[in-house]
Amino acid sequence: MTSEAADPETRDKLLIGVSSCRVGEMVRFDGGHKQSRYILDTLGRFFSFRPFCPEMAIGLGVPRETIRLADIGSQRRAIGNKTADLDVTDALIESAQAQRNWHQQIYGYIVKKDSPSCGMERVRVYHGEQPQRNGIGLYTETMMRNFPALPVEEEGRLGDPVLREGFIKRVFIYKRWQDMLADGIDWSALTEFHARHKLILYSHNQELGRGLDRELAAAHDQPIEDYAPRYLNQLMQLLKISAKRSNHVNVLEHIRGYLKKELDKDDKKELSDSIEKYRLGLLPLIVPITLLRHHFRKYPNDYIDRSYYMRPHPDELMLLNSL
Ligand code: SF4
Repeated sequence: MTSEAADPETRDKLLIGVSSCRVGEMVRFDGGHKQSRYILDTLGRFFSFRPFCPEMAIGLGVPRETIRLADIGSQRRAIGNKTADLDVTDALIESAQAQRNWHQQIYGYIVKKDSPSCGMERVRVYHGEQPQRNGIGLYTETMMRNFPALPVEEEGRLGDPVLREGFIKRVFIYKRWQDMLADGIDWSALTEFHARHKLILYSHNQELGRGLDRELAAAHDQPIEDYAPRYLNQLMQLLKISAKRSNHVNVLEHIRGYLKKELDKDDKKELSDSIEKYRLGLLPLIVPITLLRHHFRKYPNDYIDRSYYMRPHPDELMLLNSL
């Protein structure tokens, strides 16, 4: 285990990797940092961080020459912006490979955008002097190839409420998956895992969610060790699709259906109104969810009570308040 995970202060927090400069370490090319208060103050209440700077790890030091991605012939290389024979491609890839042990123990990773080492997408790649924004930082690309299901997000995108909620939700789901693996996965555990996340999947894409339902139901003749990684990768790809308001409305109405015999006329109207106001963007998602939780406390339903859709992450993060 890493020292962060063993520290009693951080024992109950989920460990996630982070580009060092985003948590205030003075590791940027000019000796500065790009500290994010949101990461440290808000996310820091629930997550502990494993900072890592690949450019420092390969010995570039500070201050240092900046590097860029460039397509040279058929190869993508990371080279010096001024010194073309400074080529750190292999060093960055090897550095990511050397971190596999702790990458295996984390539940997510927040990377710095635009970096030729850390960026997750749309990093500038030079063809001669002409950049195109279609690259991935070499360290992050290697890590994502090694761990395709690991939730990875750029810190800049965490400012978008939908992307932020989606990332944090994937981190918690990935943690539950790792816990299930540690307990020993079997078909019964996987079926239960899927049932508890099904409504979340439908809120991202109902058609693909139902496709995964059918695939899982038909997969039982395969060895679970073969199928489980495929299932996880599909689940995580599906969850990368942003959850639209209209899909949430469909899920809320589906959940409301479980209360149709229990609620009186006034309660039904109040619930319908709150879903409609959410649909119109007049209320955040937390309002109909809170009302539903209230009704299911009075009229418990095992399937809904066990669904993570009703409580995808700690309320204190207030992520549903901005959706
Ligand atoms: S290599 Fe990554 S962690 Fe290091 S300064 Fe650049 S963006 Fe930050």
